[in-house]
Amino acid sequence: MEEDKENIVPKAEPEVTETPEVTAISKDISGWSNNNVQGIDPEGDITLKCCNTEDMVTTSFLVSSHVLRLASPVFKNMLKPNFKEGDQLLMEGKADIKLNDDEASLLSTVLHILHFHGEVGIDSLDAEKLARLAILCDKYDLTKALGSWITVWFQKAEKTIQTPKDYGFMLLAAYRFNESERFREISIRAIKNIPNDSTDDWKNQELLNMMPHSVHYHISNSIRVALGKLVIDLQNVELSLTKSTKLYETGIQLCSKCSRELPNEAKKCHPCSNTVLIRRWCSSEMRIADFFAKLRKYGLWPTPQALVEHSVSEMVSRIKQAQDNLWTHKCVGYSTCPLKVNFEGFTNSSVNVLEHSITGVCLKCIKEDGDWDDSKHCTHGG
Ligand SMILES: [Zn+2]
Ligand SMILES: [Zn+2]
Ligand SMILES: [Zn+2]
Repeated sequence: MEEDKENIVPKAEPEVTETPEVTAISKDISGWSNNNVQGIDPEGDITLKCCNTEDMVTTSFLVSSHVLRLASPVFKNMLKPNFKEGDQLLMEGKADIKLNDDEASLLSTVLHILHFHGEVGIDSLDAEKLARLAILCDKYDLTKALGSWITVWFQKAEKTIQTPKDYGFMLLAAYRFNESERFREISIRAIKNIPNDSTDDWKNQELLNMMPHSVHYHISNSIRVALGKLVIDLQNVELSLTKSTKLYETGIQLCSKCSRELPNEAKKCHPCSNTVLIRRWCSSEMRIADFFAKLRKYGLWPTPQALVEHSVSEMVSRIKQAQDNLWTHKCVGYSTCPLKVNFEGFTNSSVNVLEHSITGVCLKCIKEDGDWDDSKHCTHGG
């Protein structure tokens, strides 16, 4: 309907001056507001009319057909003589191109760059905005023409990452810009730093649904695999502690009445006037109890709950803290006490899981095969 009305009602041509941004809001009979005519190339021959269907505002950009042709295979095609716009350009020396559903501010940024004005109006760039920029550039196949600007944008957005959703937006951006190295690198950081159930939220985000669900699946699966390795390591420590039968002096006695800890030389618990003191040994049972007490103290036990709440890197950081706190366990086994030996092994293997076992998701595999899974070997390297 809008199309018909626009064809019947002649519209005043937007006034274009040499300043890049001229605001002249006027409303035509069809209800569309013409806002913000940007003379990006004051001598341009193409007017891009960016129509926002939500607020009914049209933002127009006067640009060069040469630049559009060189930068974008999509526009190049549109400006061929056998298309309406190309035909108009040939006949009248200028043409209008109507663009639907593009964000004017992002389009403005891209057009300024393509016309050698550098970056205009994009002081702050967060992960979500980067993703929307990537979708726009992908739509018009502008990625090659933008070259190193894409790196600049990623560096800016990188600094704003805070939530699991931000990792999703960064992945979406890398996906749409077709940046495979960056995609793998961001996926590794996402797998390390976001809790297991975070990718469920991605599915509720309209924007994040613009990348294949196989990405969501691979990220969440890799998180599960890494956390699963930590659980196996933890179970191995418990098993090993159960098997070790060594008994060490702790130098501590416990009062049989109040459980107060007393040195080995003490003959009596004075507050209780109790002389029945029980010698405390570093035994298998005590080491297991100490092990789980440490896990609980650092939020690693009960494990099923910890696995839901914490990311892989958070789990490993807590395991390290728990090990650092082992000095509170004292026995004459010192550094050969099975608790200390096993805990150190646990910390080392968990650091190994974090730093060496997470290889990320391969963008090329995802793009080549929508059903790609880890059982199919990636041959793209990296
Ligand atoms: Zn006592
Ligand atoms: Zn011990
Ligand atoms: Zn691959």
